[in-house]
Amino acid sequence: MNTDTVVKSHTRGIERVIEGVATSDGAGVKLTRMLSGKLQKRLDPFLMLDAFASDHPDDYIAGFPDHPHRGFETVTYMLSGRMRHRDGAGHEGLLENGGVQWMTAGRGVIHSEIPEQEDGMMEGFQLWLNLPAKDKMREPWYRDFPSEFIPEYATAQGVIVRVIAGSSNGVKGAMTREVTEPLYLDIHLPASAKYSTTLPSTHNAFIYVYRGTVTVDGVQVASRRMGILNNTPGAEGVTFSATEDTRLILIAGKPLNEPIVQYGPFVMNTQQEIHQALYDYNNGHLA
Ligand code: FE
Repeated sequence: MNTDTVVKSHTRGIERVIEGVATSDGAGVKLTRMLSGKLQKRLDPFLMLDAFASDHPDDYIAGFPDHPHRGFETVTYMLSGRMRHRDGAGHEGLLENGGVQWMTAGRGVIHSEIPEQEDGMMEGFQLWLNLPAKDKMREPWYRDFPSEFIPEYATAQGVIVRVIAGSSNGVKGAMTREVTEPLYLDIHLPASAKYSTTLPSTHNAFIYVYRGTVTVDGVQVASRRMGILNNTPGAEGVTFSATEDTRLILIAGKPLNEPIVQYGPFVMNTQQEIHQALYDYNNGHLA
């Protein structure tokens, strides 16, 4: 797409900038939780975004030993580092530099995510994408996409776009999903470049900047910040500009508008379904 196709008045803006909450999960992995709790409704169908970036092994070395999930999908994008995944359904894979792991927990998996490096940088994201009620109890599914299997394209201004999910500029991503139609782009803007993409105004959308600073409709979002894009009626898309080398992820999806009941790693529609998930887990019914 021509970078000037989306005119300013039709560009989505930044509704709110989020700093995230420093926390730890698993066996003590340090991360910043950018999306949880109240934002789940605003950013439906997305339930969680964790960002991790550290070159201190103590921050990540213990990983995430065996734990369950039910009712949604986890999408892990590893910018740098190596992580071994194993689950009770017999899937195993190594996620490394630039690769994506897409796991559909469905009715339930028990898995572990353990670093396979003793030093160096580990940087990436884990996103939780909700499943529609009708799919929450589907069979678990899993796939690894090594970096070379992530489609990407470059614009005339030298912007590189990696299409993890959905379609962008006619390029089909590594994954597509019906119902929520998730779009997941990793966008690399050189200094003074501009980039626009179309985006339905009804899809909830946000960005997370992991290098540099991006400007969206006059508002700056700095590194390690998340920006929620507004849903201005009639907006055709969003335009990003950068004055320095900048990298960000753009995530968007069609809201499910279904009740969200979360208890830790289980996300269902009713309290009763959460009780059932706990019962199934405690009685060894999760794979
Ligand atoms: Fe997990």
